[in-house]
Amino acid sequence: MINNDLNKLSLPKFSQIDPANVRSIISQQLENNKQQLKIILAQEGPFTWDNLMQPLEAMQDDFNKMWSPIAHLHSVMESDALRKAYRETLPIITEYYTSLAHDEKLFAAVSSLAKSEHFQSLSSAQQKVIENEMRDFKLAGVHLPPQQKKEMAALQQKLSTLTTTFSENILDATHAFIYHTTDEKKLDGLPEKSLQLAKEEAKKRDLRGYVITLDYPAYSAVIKYVKDRTVRKILYEAFATRASDQGPHAFKWDNTPIINDILKVRYDIAKLLGFKNYADYALVPRMAKTTDEVMNFLNDLAVKSKPFAQKEYQTIIEFAQQEDHITDFAVWDLFYYSEKMHEKYFHFTQEELRPYFPIQKVLSGLFSILQQLYGITFKEEKKVDLWHPDVQFFLLYDEKNQLRGGLYVDLYARPHKREGAWMDDCHSKRRIDQERMQYPVAFLTCNFMPPVGSQPALLTHDEVLTLFHECGHCLHHLLTQVNHPAVGGINGVPWDAVEFPSQLMENFCFEKETLAQISSHIETGETLPDHLREKIIQAKHFQAALQMIRQLEFSLFDFRLHMEFDPTQTDQVQDILNDVRQKIGVVSVPAYNRFQHSFSHVFAGGYAAGYYSYKWAEVLSCDAYEVFKEHGVLDHATGQSYLKNILEVGGVRNPMESFIAFRGRQPSIDALLRENGIAP
Ligand SMILES: [Zn+2]
Repeated sequence: MINNDLNKLSLPKFSQIDPANVRSIISQQLENNKQQLKIILAQEGPFTWDNLMQPLEAMQDDFNKMWSPIAHLHSVMESDALRKAYRETLPIITEYYTSLAHDEKLFAAVSSLAKSEHFQSLSSAQQKVIENEMRDFKLAGVHLPPQQKKEMAALQQKLSTLTTTFSENILDATHAFIYHTTDEKKLDGLPEKSLQLAKEEAKKRDLRGYVITLDYPAYSAVIKYVKDRTVRKILYEAFATRASDQGPHAFKWDNTPIINDILKVRYDIAKLLGFKNYADYALVPRMAKTTDEVMNFLNDLAVKSKPFAQKEYQTIIEFAQQEDHITDFAVWDLFYYSEKMHEKYFHFTQEELRPYFPIQKVLSGLFSILQQLYGITFKEEKKVDLWHPDVQFFLLYDEKNQLRGGLYVDLYARPHKREGAWMDDCHSKRRIDQERMQYPVAFLTCNFMPPVGSQPALLTHDEVLTLFHECGHCLHHLLTQVNHPAVGGINGVPWDAVEFPSQLMENFCFEKETLAQISSHIETGETLPDHLREKIIQAKHFQAALQMIRQLEFSLFDFRLHMEFDPTQTDQVQDILNDVRQKIGVVSVPAYNRFQHSFSHVFAGGYAAGYYSYKWAEVLSCDAYEVFKEHGVLDHATGQSYLKNILEVGGVRNPMESFIAFRGRQPSIDALLRENGIAP
């Protein structure tokens, strides 16, 4: 008998996805949507929630439910046919969204609704959906007069070309350089796996001996493990000058003018929309509201962390002197001696922790922790159409035994599955009509080492953190009580706050009470002993201030750049970077260093004026976690308060309000500093 609750979820039928049909069914659906939109907008009006937003929401949701399982399958069970279908279909979807975002009739309809008296009678979630729509239309420039709208389109097009060129330059510069040697001694210290890789790279090029490339895994292994300083120096110089006016390929793929053009275009976009600078523009949909707020936040962290970072740096320099009589410590020695110190003081590796974390113990422990905190129970369902036999499916119930949603858990690495770990939504919570509710469903995907023979899969502690982190995203999506997909679960949550619930979950992996539930030695059944737990915590604090300063340098550079950029000035990029380094930096870098020329997060990714968000969300999660610590980490009342104030509210309420509702005050950086061992 099939559980009736399974029917309520209307789960996708993965086994019936046929790559041959993907393109046509998606095109068809989007075509239907477009026709429907025409009919909706042709109504006489006045526009209301029921005659405008509700049908829009329904058609958007229909499309998402059709596309999300296909996109998911493409990530976890790729085949040539599916890849082809996916690539063919993606442009059609992009085109659809672009046309929606620039639809003037739709904009006019939503505007009239936003200004109507009817708007006041809507629920806060409905109002938020409409406000977000209006905000996004305006950020896209739909309200601008025709000439400026044209300019806007041209700027967006130019930006897209520039960021692509930026990435291509890095790729070309990265591939152009190799370090070749036939002398194995030069690579002394390199782990066996990396040495093998270097051999293969040489073979690929018909060379004898070894080849080190600038691909990150190869480069980082050298900078961390190779004993020979000169080799580290050569690699460092090449890596730190990629796509720039310096180093072995100076000026060949130089990103200097590209960076300037990108900043200029972003500046023009912001100006066109009436903002003072790009940082102001970027903050509109975020939790941080003003540039001052972000700058004060970053500077505050920097001031408090710098003395600790200086001390840590000094310790590494002294260590290098004691170990190898290094008197002219340089930046290419930093990671090498830092790694050596780690080995010397901690004497343990993540590998040694594996026997304590058999996957099923971790998973059942995690579920039991969630039950204690939030009253949520997980019930496995076997009669579900899955894409692979390793995948598990769970139904989630709350304390009142009410169905809350469903979760797919896909833990192991296998061929044709994308690397890394992530959470994705399958579908969102939505009230379909008076009687029917659509429950949210999420995908939790990891790439852990699969079980070998009769032994179950064993996790490192880092992997346990990953599992908890992704589970935090899933809970945020699944436990929502908002019935409108655009602002329910993880949707509509400001981008600088979205990592808050996931990072919060990581904290539970360091506590005695929780480790007792998620660990059990594969042979002895013993939980993780105290001395290993202490080592994990010490390792977490190891050079934490140096890492903090590094992240703050990136954040301040990115933010100031987008706040201070002035198209009439020259050399501003390097000047700002130098100024940031001079003010908060601890590690001195050579003048030829051009890290900014390969800073893809900011110049090719979505992090422009947004790198600060990593630390921002960390502050929220650490500070919120203190409440759990104050009341006992598994305190049910605290869990319930967190559930009500943070997890259930989706993107409806301003996250600062939600935070204050839970914490009783505004966020403070002190908890993060303590977590990193930077403050007492
Ligand atoms: Zn995350």
